[in-house]
Amino acid sequence: MSKVVITKADTYDEQAVALAMHELLNQLGGISKFIKPGDKVLLKPNMLEGLPPDKAVTTHPEIVRAMIRQVKGAGGIPLVGDSPGVSSTLKAAEKCGILRVCQHEDVELIPFIDKVEVPFAQGSTVKKFVLAKAYIQVDKVISLAKMKTHSFMGVTGGVKNLFGLMVGTDKAQFHLRMKKRSDFAGMLVDLAQVIKPVLYIVDGIVGMEGHGPRNGKPKQANILLGGRNGFAVDLVMAEVMGYKGETMPVAAKALSLDLSPRMKDIEIVGSGSNIRLEFAKPRNLESLDNKLPAPVVDFFQNQLTAKPVIADCCIACGRCAAHCPPEAIKMMDNKAVIDYKKCIRCYCCQELCPADAVKLQNGLLLKMIRRGK
Ligand code: SF4
Ligand code: SF4
Repeated sequence: MSKVVITKADTYDEQAVALAMHELLNQLGGISKFIKPGDKVLLKPNMLEGLPPDKAVTTHPEIVRAMIRQVKGAGGIPLVGDSPGVSSTLKAAEKCGILRVCQHEDVELIPFIDKVEVPFAQGSTVKKFVLAKAYIQVDKVISLAKMKTHSFMGVTGGVKNLFGLMVGTDKAQFHLRMKKRSDFAGMLVDLAQVIKPVLYIVDGIVGMEGHGPRNGKPKQANILLGGRNGFAVDLVMAEVMGYKGETMPVAAKALSLDLSPRMKDIEIVGSGSNIRLEFAKPRNLESLDNKLPAPVVDFFQNQLTAKPVIADCCIACGRCAAHCPPEAIKMMDNKAVIDYKKCIRCYCCQELCPADAVKLQNGLLLKMIRRGK
């Protein structure tokens, strides 16, 4: 039976986090069950963008510190790395406080720049990945994720966090290739099997609700989650957030491939095991694009999915245009303008907009079906 641990921690106080992490790992048999002396261990926090920790966009630096100390305690050599969605690793790490922790703990921060090709013949969706080279230079990986909503994937936790192992704009290519949620989720499921983190930890002391993963609201949840099976950890995380965990795209795909246990088959333990909350849903949690064949989705995309709309508060920074995978956004008259014929509904623009100016508007069919409910 898969075990997922939920421990209580109501502040990011260094000692409180260390204690919660210790309890969590003890429930899983202790850190030495995962890390052996001499192991080089890549800690992969969520550093989507360089924002202060209180915005709840990135994994809190104290979570990174607690895991650094655990790995060192087991005789391992921790390294920290990510490829943020915006800006360089160094800049993002500086702003979100992770650089300071790395310096204080004397741990190397690795910018993901060099790449390596990793074939994956048995992949259900992807047969080859190009990943940050750091991945093959370490013995083990630990995912240190943030508990957040996600406009495209419903939630982002331990598995989605691994998408940061793809370097910079390589991420956009997957959005272009995988327009359907189930395909994108399939890619993430394959990615998790390639990277095989030995541990998945999710920072849910303060998570994010609503318009995640960047523009939602911080939500105090007072928990850390963790386990060996990332699909099980994320499934439980989604349930704690108040969603039907098994219907989240990544969970559904992992279940269909027998890689995830069912919710009823997961043993949930720890001081926070009874905590259940209600996170405001991301706008586009419900969509019909998974239920139809790809050509139909392509044809009816405007009606089946929520469409991104630029609000008047757009500050014309151009970030959405720079990151839109199919280059569907142009800057005109000091405002972003979307060409809906090109838009593939990946919501990268909503994810990255610093002014929360990308709103999602339901497509016609989706509106009708919701009204009929
Ligand atoms: S919509 Fe957002 S990201 Fe795009 S230009 Fe306007 S403010 Fe920048
Ligand atoms: S306009 Fe936004 S949702 Fe559409 S393809 Fe570009 S980034 Fe994705």
